[in-house]
Amino acid sequence: MSEVRVRFAPSPTGYLHIGGVRTALYSWLWARQNDGTFILRIEDTDRERSTEESIRIVLDSMRWLGLDWDEGPEVGGDHGPYVQSERLDIYADYAERLIQSGHAYRCYATKEEIAEAREAFKKTGAKGGFRFQSPWRDRTDPPEDPNARYVIRFRAPHEGSTGWDDEVKDRIDVPNETQQDFILLRPDGMPLYNFGCVVDDLTMGVTLVARGDDHVINTAPQILLYQALGAEHPKFAHMPMVLAPNGEKLSKRHAAVGVLEYRDMGYLPDAVLNYLARLGWSHGDQEIFTREELIEKFSWDRVGSTAGRYDSKKFLYVQEEHLRMLLDAEIARLAVPFLAEIGIDVAADDPVLLEAIPYVKPRAATLADVANAVSYFFGEVEFEEKGKRKFLVPENAENLLGLAELVQDVEPFEKGKLDEVVKSWLEANELPMKKVAQPARVAMTGRTRSPGLFEVMEVLGKDKTVERLRAAAELAASATAD
Ligand code: GLU
Repeated sequence: MSEVRVRFAPSPTGYLHIGGVRTALYSWLWARQNDGTFILRIEDTDRERSTEESIRIVLDSMRWLGLDWDEGPEVGGDHGPYVQSERLDIYADYAERLIQSGHAYRCYATKEEIAEAREAFKKTGAKGGFRFQSPWRDRTDPPEDPNARYVIRFRAPHEGSTGWDDEVKDRIDVPNETQQDFILLRPDGMPLYNFGCVVDDLTMGVTLVARGDDHVINTAPQILLYQALGAEHPKFAHMPMVLAPNGEKLSKRHAAVGVLEYRDMGYLPDAVLNYLARLGWSHGDQEIFTREELIEKFSWDRVGSTAGRYDSKKFLYVQEEHLRMLLDAEIARLAVPFLAEIGIDVAADDPVLLEAIPYVKPRAATLADVANAVSYFFGEVEFEEKGKRKFLVPENAENLLGLAELVQDVEPFEKGKLDEVVKSWLEANELPMKKVAQPARVAMTGRTRSPGLFEVMEVLGKDKTVERLRAAAELAASATAD
């Protein structure tokens, strides 16, 4: 097989949509599986939306996901620049070639003329969209004003049809009579999407173009451009859009769609990639894939032609599974910024943090959950109002104090020993476990749900355990019954 060269060509909009990421992912997997080249190209011809900031968001998102590019911004390569606004001379050159070969022409029609033609079209009551038929397609005389502004239009053929065998969909053929003389370059030298895309894919040696099927409509015009340039077109793979649960196109109204929102919620990049990979591609019944497995198993013929629907529960499940795959020390390292976020300044190798992770891991899905679940081991206890009102009441004060005194003498202060000592104390005093366990849990964690009592004690250590039980006993004694 010839070298695989694939690209991801986002138009920066202020966030990187997870649907776009899925497209990027499939191309990236294909490149990595075939020792090919993955190119990142920024399509920033919409100057209003393409701010430095929105380009940065694209790069940060790709870096966070670990979708590394072999050619592109900040990396370089032999086919640069990789930002469209820096390639205007290349587009001008290709537009000139098309003019020379008779496949394009300068159109001097003014806005007013086009508006008039549109009005006239409306009056005829004809069906279908308006297509401007420029008089300059056939005119050979120069414009009256030699400095008149012009656009460069493609001289689209009207006979025959244009088609391709899509890697995901069936064959698609489009009659050429539906094509219009679309604009290649604006007066300011900015390319329109179809032209910029073709010139770039051609000059960058792209062998397969993967993108959302909202672009199917652009593919025939693009193939016509390749033909006009005497070049072969790449393969095309058009993926169905990612849909919302209700079948609409997935947008901000339905879910978090920006990749970095998932980073901030504490998702892992590998979980995001796994979930997105499965949203439109399958490999038997397997749901959970490591990054390496995805690279190994991905194939275009298993990309479905029907749209996948976003399912937040399934996404969270995939995330949870990936969290379980990590080593505790790795979870601790990744949880540190989430702890900082809730005001807990702790190092990744903090022994208490490392000891706590195995106990909170089974109940956490995201890194934010992990941070939240270990937070009471550090700093002060914050009582949940409901638990405090129910359990830190006068009738429990004595037991809490008794427990504090009991555990004060336990050595070694570890869960097995604590379990043994506390249970015989309960028996001797004819106290049921549940009479003591919940008040003690609230005393030590501030919450009514936590890992096992003796596990919490062990991680907290003797001093803090005793201190918290005593403080809670006092609080309980002074609480007024409702
Ligand atoms: N900039 C286009 C987009 O973001 C790229 C489409 C393509 O991959 O050709 O939709």
